Amino acid sequence: MDSLRSFIDALPPEEVLRLHAPFDLDYLPTALSLELERAGRSPVVVIENPIGFVGPVVCNLFAERGRIARMAGTSGEHFNQAWLAASERRISPVLVRDAPVQELVLTAGALDAARLPISRHFEQDAGRYISSGILICKDPDTGVRNLSYQRMQLKGPDRFGVSLHSRGHIWDHWQRAAARGRNLPVAVVIGGHPAIHLAAGAKMGMDVDELEVAGALLGRPVELVACKTIDVEVPAAAEYVLEGEILADVFEDEGPFGEYTGYATSRSTRHVFVVRAITQRAAPWFLDIIPGYSAEHLLLGRAGKEAHVWNRLREMVPGAVALNFPKSGTHFHAYLSLRATAPGQARHALMLLFGLDPYLKLAVVVDEDIDVFNETEMLWALATRFQADSDMFVVPKVFCNRLDPSSVDGMSAKLGMDATRKPGWDVIRTSLPEAAMQWARGIVRG
Ligand code: MN
Repeated sequence: MDSLRSFIDALPPEEVLRLHAPFDLDYLPTALSLELERAGRSPVVVIENPIGFVGPVVCNLFAERGRIARMAGTSGEHFNQAWLAASERRISPVLVRDAPVQELVLTAGALDAARLPISRHFEQDAGRYISSGILICKDPDTGVRNLSYQRMQLKGPDRFGVSLHSRGHIWDHWQRAAARGRNLPVAVVIGGHPAIHLAAGAKMGMDVDELEVAGALLGRPVELVACKTIDVEVPAAAEYVLEGEILADVFEDEGPFGEYTGYATSRSTRHVFVVRAITQRAAPWFLDIIPGYSAEHLLLGRAGKEAHVWNRLREMVPGAVALNFPKSGTHFHAYLSLRATAPGQARHALMLLFGLDPYLKLAVVVDEDIDVFNETEMLWALATRFQADSDMFVVPKVFCNRLDPSSVDGMSAKLGMDATRKPGWDVIRTSLPEAAMQWARGIVRG
């Protein structure tokens, strides 16, 4: 069965950092991930002995692009194509009876969510948060499943605060259930195969079950099992499942929480999730996703979105070469390279980018000789191919993501910058013979 542990066990040993010493889950997983990133390293971290809890705890799993591509069964440069194929082909999940995730079933009275090895991630966080939980629910009218991430603040043995502030499909499901006076049944999946985690971050139509995308990424159906206490199905090979309900008519303070912007925010829909059962493997692994402005949070959040925007953009802009949502811009900046064939195509592409992704505030288009994954090259292109009086435009007051602390009333300005060579450009870029560069690369590599 495809699972978190089968994926990690198959990784080369040098890609996994196993820590055996007693390890404090307050702040240390976050500190370690941020420091690894600063050092240019991105191993999966496996904490074998979390103090006060039963391990292992896995984090930093999504901190590297190449690894994310392998989760989708492909390599880095083919990820966008693989994503497009998976989101179109889709493979329906199948139902099984026996599930590792139900080796242990704890129901009311016996369950205690506080015993899960849940980290405290940032000093400003209101408490311990599950940030890796995939919330699975069903459309109250059509029954189509939805997978999404929502932050979950531990509040008691069977109680979490939840924020649905991203106003995604689960928000819509909850609103329709609540209008009928009903709680929304939700299963929270912790530690599924990474392809399921990737698919859970996808922005698909309301009529698409993200588990079908996960199946297509895996190349075979995801095996599901029916929950014990609610009418929801979950991946049978997951590590933990919290079965429960988001209440229709109870609201409580939730947050602050360190968000992807790098700021702590109390902005919350103040929902409450009550746990009815915890099902788990007999010796479960716990998956933590380091939240905030971390490599893994931003990469996981944008992998599917970047591919989606890229594929839509390519339908209209055949000369598009590469697209990057740089980490420095959290989810608000995009860099696109273009093989333009007519004047004004860069501006057309900029308008499309802003239309395809409301989070974007700044988009820069460069020529194909610029590497959009290299920010020094991007700034060099701006320094030498761009004039502010003629090569940029601003669209004020456009719908945006409210977590941008500089936004006003849910709106922000969009800045498009065209750093491509303009008509009549006759400047010669310096170069070196390829043989000389190859020689130098050999010396540097040793
Ligand atoms: Mn959905």
